Amino acid sequence: MNGPLNIDLHTHSDRSDGALTPVELVRRAAAAGVEVLALTDHDTIEGIEDAGRCAAACGVRLVPGVEISASWRAQAIHVLGLWIDPGESSLRGMLADQAERRRTRMRRICGRLAGMGLPGDALLAAVEAHPGLPTRTHLAAALLAGGHVDSADEAFRRYLGRGKAAHLAAHWPALAEVVGWIRSAGGVASLAHPVRYRLSAGARRRLLADFAAAGGTALEVVTGSNASGQIEVASQLALTFGLAGSVGSDFHNPQLPWNTLGRLAKLPDCVTPVWRGFGL
Ligand code: AMP
Ligand code: MN
Ligand code: MN
Ligand code: MN
Repeated sequence: MNGPLNIDLHTHSDRSDGALTPVELVRRAAAAGVEVLALTDHDTIEGIEDAGRCAAACGVRLVPGVEISASWRAQAIHVLGLWIDPGESSLRGMLADQAERRRTRMRRICGRLAGMGLPGDALLAAVEAHPGLPTRTHLAAALLAGGHVDSADEAFRRYLGRGKAAHLAAHWPALAEVVGWIRSAGGVASLAHPVRYRLSAGARRRLLADFAAAGGTALEVVTGSNASGQIEVASQLALTFGLAGSVGSDFHNPQLPWNTLGRLAKLPDCVTPVWRGFGL
């Protein structure tokens, strides 16, 4: 619970790399006790309309959201846009470009895999058969289904992860630009899972300083995959850089035992909740 409400501001549907349709996601969140839910698919807002209709019927308050891939000093960074206006035309245009970047990147990654002796065309076809935008999660699943790896984790460790042979350096738009898109669409930007990036403590502080200077509002202080001590680290960062705090499970798939819905830790009292300005 977060204050009187059960809030989750970071979840995925099958419009990106989640396993559930937007409607299934909202139903599952409602059943898990979530009262305020943001759908934040990677680089797409396609699921928001369906999710919103279902949320209204289930008594869940839906926060329109998106998780945008950005780059900062050659590192891929995820920025949550929360309370965005999904009808805003410049954001829609920017996300159409992101979708094209994702499709191009997936073709290039599969080309690299083909160069390593793997069936690149078949892997690409398996990814493209999926209804949502292509992500490395889909490719890891295709590598697993084809018997090329024994787990999705191995797909990242052997091929797709940072520094591996089929990894492509960040080609995403700059962090400050992405924060600008979110703000022009009436939303607030929250830097997702700040402790998950492979950055030194000093680089993380520079990232947060740049994010705040670009107009970022919040930091995702509580995430589903927090290890002990990380909430305190993230809270301290939020206070240092004058950022509010958001909370989100990063739920993708009911078969993964972590990142479950409805069971997030509480945002520490010292951090201003990002939802305070939204009547919650
Ligand atoms: P992309 O946005 O296409 O670069 O894919 C990133 C997504 O891959 C993340 O949002 C995670 O859902 C997933 N992911 C990243 N690293 C791993 C990993 N080691 N194991 C499983 N999934 C991962
Ligand atoms: Mn994902
Ligand atoms: Mn992310
Ligand atoms: Mn996510």
